[in-house]
Amino acid sequence: MKKLRLILGDQLNLSHSWFNETSNDNLYLMAEMRQETDYVKHHIQKVVGFFSAMRNFASALENEGHQVIYFTIADKNNPQNLPDLIDQVIKDRDIEKLEYQLPDEYRLDEQLKDICEHISISSEAFDTEHFYTSRDELKNHFKGKKQLIMESFYRMMRKKHHVLMENDQPEGGKWNFDQSNRKKWDGSPSIPKELSFDKDVSDIVEEIKKAEVVTFGNIDPKKFPWPTTYQECKKLLDFFCSDLLTYFGDYQDALHTQQKYLFHSRLSFAMNSKMLSPKEVVDAVVDHYHEHQGDIHISQVEGFVRQILGWREYMRGIYWKEMPQYAQLNELDNHNPLPDFFWTGKTKMNCLQKSISQSLDDAYAHHIQRLMVIGNYALLTQIHPDQVDAWYLGVYIDALEWVEITNTRGMSQFADGGIVATKPYVSSANYINKMGNYCKDCHYSHTKKTGEKSCPFNALYWNFLDEKKEFFKNNQRMSMMLSLLDKKSSDELKELRERAQEVIANPDSF
Ligand code: FAD
Ligand code: SF4
Repeated sequence: MKKLRLILGDQLNLSHSWFNETSNDNLYLMAEMRQETDYVKHHIQKVVGFFSAMRNFASALENEGHQVIYFTIADKNNPQNLPDLIDQVIKDRDIEKLEYQLPDEYRLDEQLKDICEHISISSEAFDTEHFYTSRDELKNHFKGKKQLIMESFYRMMRKKHHVLMENDQPEGGKWNFDQSNRKKWDGSPSIPKELSFDKDVSDIVEEIKKAEVVTFGNIDPKKFPWPTTYQECKKLLDFFCSDLLTYFGDYQDALHTQQKYLFHSRLSFAMNSKMLSPKEVVDAVVDHYHEHQGDIHISQVEGFVRQILGWREYMRGIYWKEMPQYAQLNELDNHNPLPDFFWTGKTKMNCLQKSISQSLDDAYAHHIQRLMVIGNYALLTQIHPDQVDAWYLGVYIDALEWVEITNTRGMSQFADGGIVATKPYVSSANYINKMGNYCKDCHYSHTKKTGEKSCPFNALYWNFLDEKKEFFKNNQRMSMMLSLLDKKSSDELKELRERAQEVIANPDSF
């Protein structure tokens, strides 16, 4: 039977059982499509990253003897959307059965189900063999529970997959070393220069331009830094283990003007495109730790494992449990527009200027920049979650809806009303100053709450609590913040509100 096997752009898993044997009856189909470049405006590095990785993947399959049909973005015969593409290839190649791997995005899942209903041949869906969990595992784990606490899911995952366990107890005597993962980086220990692949991707950039795909952000086409083959991903993983893991946990939450990556792995794109499996990453890191136990503390390793075995799988489970209604949630009723400086980086607020400019230059920001600088500002200024989501989904090279929306609408913007986070991640300048050096060279003073040079985050923070206090009045984790708000005099509160309203009304002049 002649089968067409569809491979989507984020399904680049060379170890998939589909590829265990070659057969002339299996035709693999891959396509760069306008439906994927246009559903949101993407950073140029994101489009280039996926196209480059897809092309390398197709070549790797061909080298192994598989038959691949590949449509580039500028190909005149490319139908540019999935239904027409599949239709065309079924007809042209006399295909008798369609097979596909389960997509990770809801919109593609729906589209493929619809396609299968309308084609005249049989079809079958396969697992991607990438994640530790199935789509419904988290839903089943929390069946009958009101709160979906990540820590409970994470412990179940540690036990089930026997990661950092000694019999049935956690290695190091504790499940979670989060408390020791909060150091500020002040110049030491020294940070190794990042591993950059510096590839020439000028031809792909030209093709994207020729096809008139609208993108944003910056790129040096002669020096593309991201890994786009399995071997490069593996090299990045090895570099993380040998050069960064020792201090990963300690400085996980640190911010610094001179260090964009600190000790972060930059492995998210490698994993989200499925070039690298989370199990391969976790196993490599845990093995490295066991081989160098005297040199690396468990807290560094546990901090990393928690992100992948815990948060990454948890977000996937939340996505499949809550979609499609999740994408509409706006529980805090926020409606302000996204300021222009999100697209230019032009603002006098140093933390935002650095974090947004870096995002536009590199299609990357680390977690605390995403959460406690950019996301914090978006929530405090009460920007509509649709606009926040569209920005996050476009700007980062690792942004795919299943992991972007749960982090942005959920963890960062609290628009899900507390499904992912038990309290909103908001802070005044105090936190940003505590965790980094952005405030040192800022136009604004992090200690001033009101007045001309006062840091906007300070007034915005109290204004947010004041405006949303009804919503949070029964949230135990907010009680301390709300009682501090209660202690403010009406004059002080009035000044804070006025300052916050100035910022909200005119964000681009700050
Ligand atoms: P490291 O700090 O080295 O962490 C290792 C790995 O852990 C990451 O590669 C990632 O796979 C995983 N991880 C860490 N935190 C999370 C998390 N909260 N959720 C899921 N996985 C996690 N991650 C994405 O992969 N895609 C996104 O679109 C995305 N959008 C985000 C939006 C916001 C508002 C926030 C707050 C976080 C977002 N994250 C997203 C999670 C996290 O910030 C990134 O995974 C991380 O910054 C990627 O860089 P890294 O590979 O150097 O991570
Ligand atoms: Fe950001 Fe305020 Fe610090 Fe400036 S003073 S860097 S705006 S937190």
